[in-house]
Amino acid sequence: MGEILIQNADTVLTMDDDKRILRQTDVLIRDGQIAAIGQGLTTSGEVIRAEGCVVTPGLVNTHHHLYQNLTRAVPGAQDALLFGWLQRLYPIWSRFGPEEMFISAQLGLVELALSGCTLSSDHLYLYPNGARLEDTIHAAAEVGLRFHPTRGAMSIGESKGGLPPDHLVEEEAAILEDMIRVVDGFHDASEGSMCRVGLAPCSPFSVSRELMRDTALLARDKGVMLHTHLAENDEDIAYSEAQFGCRPGQYAEDLGWTGPDVWHAHCVKLNPREIDLFARSRTGVAHCPCSNCRLGSGIAPVRQMRDAGVPVGLGVDGSASNDMANLAGEARQTMLLQRVAQGADAMSAYEALEIATRGGADVLGRPDCGRLSPGKRADLAIWDVTGVASSGSWDPAALLLAGPNQVRHLIVEGRSVVRDGQVTTLDLPRLLEHHHRLALKLAEGG
Ligand SMILES: [Zn+2]
Repeated sequence: MGEILIQNADTVLTMDDDKRILRQTDVLIRDGQIAAIGQGLTTSGEVIRAEGCVVTPGLVNTHHHLYQNLTRAVPGAQDALLFGWLQRLYPIWSRFGPEEMFISAQLGLVELALSGCTLSSDHLYLYPNGARLEDTIHAAAEVGLRFHPTRGAMSIGESKGGLPPDHLVEEEAAILEDMIRVVDGFHDASEGSMCRVGLAPCSPFSVSRELMRDTALLARDKGVMLHTHLAENDEDIAYSEAQFGCRPGQYAEDLGWTGPDVWHAHCVKLNPREIDLFARSRTGVAHCPCSNCRLGSGIAPVRQMRDAGVPVGLGVDGSASNDMANLAGEARQTMLLQRVAQGADAMSAYEALEIATRGGADVLGRPDCGRLSPGKRADLAIWDVTGVASSGSWDPAALLLAGPNQVRHLIVEGRSVVRDGQVTTLDLPRLLEHHHRLALKLAEGG
C-alpha cells in the first residue's frame, strides 16, 4: 500500500494515552498503520501538506440506522414522539429492498466521511423484500469506511402486542439462523479489521426475553459484540416496568446484556444504580444527543457516566430521527447538552472530541483505532482551520467551539477517502441521483 506523509500539521490531537497535543508535526503512514509521529519525517511516497490544518483521529460513530437516509424529514414523523414516530415510518420501511439498503448505506457513509468519521457501526433491524445485512457491508466496502454492521431484529409484531406491523417482524429461529450466517460469512476479528459484525435485537419492546438471552449466548459463543436500544425515554422505562417488572438496567443484566462486549444506544434515563452497574461491568453507551433532542427524549447523564467510568461513544442515530448525520456536529452537541444540564464547565471541547474518537473506538472494542500513535490504524481526519468557521479563533484546535464541521482530507486504513473536501472512492453525483430517485419513489407511495 505504500506510504503517506502528512507534513507539518499546525496541531495533531493524538488522543493517545498521554493525550498529547503536538504542534508543527508530521504523521507518517505505512501499510495502513501509523508508522511515526514527529518532526522532520521523510518519505519516498505521497506527501499531504498540512499547514493550516488540525489532525485528529478519525471520528467513530457507534449508532446508526443507515437505511433511514431515504426517510429524512418525513411529514407526520417530524414532530412525533418515539412510538408515534415509529408507527408513521414502519409502513414506508416495509417497502424497502436490497437496492434501498445498499444505496442508503452508501449515502449515509459518505455523509459521515465528510464529517470526519472513519469507523461506523450500523444497526439494521428490518429485512423486507429480500434485504440482507451484506447489502450494507458491500456499500461500506465501496465507500472505504471501517464498518461494524450489526444484525438487528424484531420479532414481536402488532398481533402479539408489539409495535411493528406483523409483516416487518421475523421468526426468532430464522433470526438466530441468519445471525450465525452473517457472523460466519462476514465477521473479521483480526487486528486492523475493516468489518466486524455484531448482534443486535432492536429493543426490549420488539423482541422476546428468550431472543435477548439466546442472542447473548450466541454472541459469546462466536466472540462478537452485542448492541441494542436501552432506556431511551420515559415511555421506554414505563414499558420495562409494566412488562418486565424491572428497570432496563436490571433487564439487561438478567439476560446477559452487560459487559465489555455490549453497548447500548441512548441510555438517557439510566439512574445512578444503573450507571454504577454499567461502570462495574464496563458496558458501553452510544450517546446520540441530536436524536435525543429531536425526539424530546431528554439529556443523557454523560458527565456522570464518564465520571463513574462508563465507556461512552457517540452516535448520530438513524437519519429519520436526526435528520443529519454530521458526527462533528454530534460531538459539539454533546458538549453543549452537558453544559445545559450542568454548567459551562461540565464538558470541554477537547473532552467531547475524545469521546468522539478514542471513546467510540473503545466502546466498539477497537483499541487499535481512535488514537494516533505508532502501531495504531491509520484512520485520520484532517481539518482546515484557515476558513471562515475558524477565522479569529485563538485556539483553532478547539474544533468544536470554532471550526469546520467537514473535513478537508480523510484517511482510512492508510487509504484516502476524502481529498480536498471531495469523496474519492465513488461517483457522488451519480449516487445522489440514484438516492434521490429512490426517495421520490417511496414518497409517491405515501
Ligand atoms: Zn437508534
